[in-house]
Amino acid sequence: MSWFKRESSEISGATEAERRVRTEGLWVKCDNCRKIIWKKDLDANLNVCPNCERHFRIDSRARLALLLDEGSYQTFDENLASTDPLKFVDLKPYALRQRQAQETTGMADAIVNAAGTMNGRPVVVSAMEYSFIGGSMGAVVGEAITRAIERSLGEKKPLIVVSASGGARMMEGVVSLMQMVKITSALARLDDARIPYISVLTDPTTGGVTASYAMLGDLNIAEPGALIGFAGPRVIEQTIRQKLPEGFQRSEFLVEKGFLDAVVHRKEMKAYISRALEFMCSN
Ligand SMILES: [Zn+2]
Repeated sequence: MSWFKRESSEISGATEAERRVRTEGLWVKCDNCRKIIWKKDLDANLNVCPNCERHFRIDSRARLALLLDEGSYQTFDENLASTDPLKFVDLKPYALRQRQAQETTGMADAIVNAAGTMNGRPVVVSAMEYSFIGGSMGAVVGEAITRAIERSLGEKKPLIVVSASGGARMMEGVVSLMQMVKITSALARLDDARIPYISVLTDPTTGGVTASYAMLGDLNIAEPGALIGFAGPRVIEQTIRQKLPEGFQRSEFLVEKGFLDAVVHRKEMKAYISRALEFMCSN
């Protein structure tokens, strides 16, 4: 054995697993400005990079806490879960994929509904969970949003849907596509009743979600730098054989082109929506 070769890589005596556990989650590297941020600073700043304002993804519960008044809201329709209508298997069975997502997120599917107040005004909020199979829209998401809409209608409260989704849930095939129609027709009834619906698009909002309810708000607003589109940029580039412009499919670009009404900073979101609702509900 040569003298310069380290016999053990364990300098501190700690195993690889132990070291990882100790350091995990203390520091985060911003994928935009590359700055190393202390996790606590990031949390205190609503998960927005203090250096470059990059909006990191947050989960659906954090979203509810951000938008609704503390202690004012209750969640509902939490126990809806998919029945796996196609008994679908890709790399692994859909049923297993679902179970794993349920274990890691503690949710039954990719959405949470809540009713509460926003700066004192009663509202219904539906927030999508990206970490549950990419926030994909299957029968459960469709049913949950429809129920939120029906509650809005019944109780005459404005509706806010926060999208974070890769689109339709492929493992449910055409059943997932049918949710676009189902939600859209429910939204039409909300529109007939003249109850405001505000759509908040966060990173990412793509596919069938963009192609249905996410773009149907009386007001469609997005967080800064969010990826919003139907097909991904690579697919479009390969189809049209052209280089896409800088910032294509990001919130700011879409506001400029008239697809969105505004880009709103996470810190301003609650105040912005409250002001908009005050305006919409005043007559
Ligand atoms: Zn940054």
